[in-house]
Amino acid sequence: MEDYVLAAIALKLERIIFLEHLEMGINYFESTWLTQDDFSYYFKEGRRLQEKYSGTLEIGLGVEVGFNPDRIRQLQSFLDRYHWDRVGISYHFLDVHGEHLNLLSRKKHNIAAYDGVGVERILDAYFSGLRVAVEELPGDVLCHLDAVLRYHPDAKDFDFFTPACDLLDRIAEKGMSLEVNTSGYPIRDQPFPSIDILKAAAGRNITLVAGSDAHRPADVGRYFDRLSVIVKEIQKIR
Ligand SMILES: [Zn+2]
Repeated sequence: MEDYVLAAIALKLERIIFLEHLEMGINYFESTWLTQDDFSYYFKEGRRLQEKYSGTLEIGLGVEVGFNPDRIRQLQSFLDRYHWDRVGISYHFLDVHGEHLNLLSRKKHNIAAYDGVGVERILDAYFSGLRVAVEELPGDVLCHLDAVLRYHPDAKDFDFFTPACDLLDRIAEKGMSLEVNTSGYPIRDQPFPSIDILKAAAGRNITLVAGSDAHRPADVGRYFDRLSVIVKEIQKIR
């Protein structure tokens, strides 16, 4: 965590918020999220860093909670245990016949499994799940909205805009923000979500928050120099 803090200071950022992953009840061959014990360490170390770097960098401790329709109550009660500086909502793992598919993975076995179910059915399930997540979880920001199936060649034929706008209506109603996730740039030269969805969010007066989805210190603040282009686009609408 300290390496991420030092990376942010080197970039002259004023504030960062850690958004560690929380998942519950996921049946997957590898774990890319923190356990409940990890989170108690996370807060302990986070508090130490807040104190150590106070005056230099404001450090927030948040969470990106992965939706699981079978664990809504457990997710809610875990979130209730801490004060989070930001709660992001995402949907990474879809239950297909008792096993979870990683909707954001480029791994071959995930891609092959998507084909078995059908890309359109997966995307419908993703968007309807997110609608429930936004209703049921105490989220502040919706994360990487259209990053789902980002490595699947057929996903580009799907209409993301319509279901995304439906979600935008719901997050606007709840006063939630939308993440501009810059990890999209190296993959498709646009952030997650795409500029047209960001414009639709701006039209609804939804606050946008920048996230670099850094999974290593070198990625802190990546492509943030491109955010000014988005701000200009949005100012035309507002
Ligand atoms: Zn995520």
